[in-house]
Amino acid sequence: MSKRDYYEILGIDKNATDADIKKAYRKLAKQYHPDLNPGDKEAEQKFKEVNEAYEILSDQQKRSNYDQFGHAGTDPNGFGGFGSGGFGGTGGFEDIFDMFFGGGGFGGSTRRKGPQKGADLRVDIELKFEEAAFGKEEDIEINRMEDCHTCGGTGAKPGTKVKTCDKCNGAGQVQYTQNTPLGRFVNVKTCDKCNGEGKTIETPCNTCHGTGKEQKSRTIHINIPAGVDNGSVLPLRGEGEPGEKGGRRGDLYIYIHVKPHPIFTREGNDIYCEVPITFAQAALGVELSVPTLDGKVKYNIAEGTQTGTVFRLKGKGVANVRGYGRGDQYVKIKVEVPKKLNKEQKELLQKFAEISGQEVHEQTKGFFEKVKDVFGV
Ligand code: ZN
Repeated sequence: MSKRDYYEILGIDKNATDADIKKAYRKLAKQYHPDLNPGDKEAEQKFKEVNEAYEILSDQQKRSNYDQFGHAGTDPNGFGGFGSGGFGGTGGFEDIFDMFFGGGGFGGSTRRKGPQKGADLRVDIELKFEEAAFGKEEDIEINRMEDCHTCGGTGAKPGTKVKTCDKCNGAGQVQYTQNTPLGRFVNVKTCDKCNGEGKTIETPCNTCHGTGKEQKSRTIHINIPAGVDNGSVLPLRGEGEPGEKGGRRGDLYIYIHVKPHPIFTREGNDIYCEVPITFAQAALGVELSVPTLDGKVKYNIAEGTQTGTVFRLKGKGVANVRGYGRGDQYVKIKVEVPKKLNKEQKELLQKFAEISGQEVHEQTKGFFEKVKDVFGV
């Protein structure tokens, strides 16, 4: 059966852009849609054709295959139509592509036959603010596939044999010859008898049913370095799921979540906090006891310190996760105005106001001068 050209079906030329293809498809799909043409066999056929053409041409890889090799380049059943006989239905075509394009890029990774790395695992852990700052050693428990405890990973029932596959002689791969429109190729494919394992099992193990693996809980000791932050991810190489056909284990990724701290916030390796002082302390100066990750430190606040003043405690931040020193801590002073005063306090403050008279402070003065500039009053 000869198939119509996909470009012809969609009524576009070979240089059509993706947008052209989509537009042509929409128009035709609407025209031949079965809902709009009930009982019309020809329309149904056309609708199928249009869909097939669109499926190929809208996919860059498939379109490029089609441009090079015509319909043979898109047939999932390989070159069956060419009568070469030896293809066994699936995959022949892709093998040729593997040869031309080095595998990888064609049709994803499902056709890879060699050793395969195991799947990666993820564990989320929550740390206190201080634990992230100073690091922590911890035992975590994960579930992953391990060698079966009954058969030790062979997959064979204890006492029975694991035989070398007689089709591939243990290689896991067999050679075969392909006759293709492009010539004759000797190709290699996964042995279908042992599924690439190179061995066959006489009697499968009852525990793992021949897989050689079983799910187990494992305790893993992890060493979280000082300086990790919320969102940090620690990779532990080789602690994931086991690989296949001799491939290495996948990796385990530890996702770090840091709980908020009641006093500190963190930006990079620097720590920020706010310390409230009374307006009397702000006016007269005071020796403050400031909380840091290393405990309290003394800091002298000068007379006349304004609210919002920030001072820096050098080296009191979080350690750099790569070990390059520590960040700083920034302390912001917040002057609090009392909301409730007792009788004596009120009297003293009134006295204070009387003594101060019309005296205004610099900032207040500056502020009212600006107001005058803006409003003219
Ligand atoms: Zn077993």
